[in-house]
Amino acid sequence: MSFKVILYYKYVLVADPIKAVQDQRELCLRLGLKGRILISKEGINGTLEGTKDNIAKYVEAMNSDELFSGIHFKYSDGTGASFLKLSIKAREEIVTSGLGTEENAENRITGKYLKPEELKKWIESGKEFYIVDMRNDYEQKSGYFEGSILSNVPNFRDIPKFLPKIKHLKDKEILTVCTGGVRCEKASGYLMQNGFENVYQLEGGIHSYMEKYPNEDFKGKLYVFDKRILIGFNTEDSRHEVVSSCERCGVKSENYVNCAYDVCHRHYIICEECYKKSGGFCNLKCRFVSRLAS
Ligand SMILES: [Zn+2]
Ligand SMILES: [Zn+2]
Repeated sequence: MSFKVILYYKYVLVADPIKAVQDQRELCLRLGLKGRILISKEGINGTLEGTKDNIAKYVEAMNSDELFSGIHFKYSDGTGASFLKLSIKAREEIVTSGLGTEENAENRITGKYLKPEELKKWIESGKEFYIVDMRNDYEQKSGYFEGSILSNVPNFRDIPKFLPKIKHLKDKEILTVCTGGVRCEKASGYLMQNGFENVYQLEGGIHSYMEKYPNEDFKGKLYVFDKRILIGFNTEDSRHEVVSSCERCGVKSENYVNCAYDVCHRHYIICEECYKKSGGFCNLKCRFVSRLAS
């Protein structure tokens, strides 16, 4: 059976998030979908996996919904086990930013949209602009746009701390990027509120760019928040480049794991060989403490 994963969001005024959560739960259960959806007064943000047919039915149902029609869904291949369960919640924000919620979707301040094709032209033209990657540090390890500025923060909430590092670019053209675009809706607006004059956001995020131009300007793989951890498009292509490396021996690796000691659970990249040798623990201390505990 073939499985698909979808990634999507929409900023739209949801008058009754609790009701929307119930409706979404019914729809997803009926179609046997698993994944995660956040709904707030400012909109919906979700990622779901299901069979190809059931995902198509979900998209169809969303498109005939008054509130949620017209969403740009991003598709990738699933495994059937990308998510262990279905979680649908009403929250204050559809992406936790601490940068403020937007109850009035129409008055939202956000950067100008740049389509993947337009970015391709920008790159090829050699014009001066700066790609600012708004993702978290561990996402940026496995893949990034060549020459981009990495925010290198542990969490999206820390974006304000990163701002001083790019303040010299206030009058330059800036393009913010993130996985599927939802974080850039806020991050680009936040830059504008802080005096950046020419702020663009990549429409559909890195995901959409990779679908269109696999293994080109975005190097490596895209980090996703499900069991697949990293995804790529046409990675069997010889142009696919591994950019991350084993933190033990330095060999190129895309093997993302969590420390086997539950209390630590650190997320890191380690080659298969070093992983075997380490017993699954990120350092000797974790290995030692874990033994004592068992
Ligand atoms: Zn290694
Ligand atoms: Zn550890």
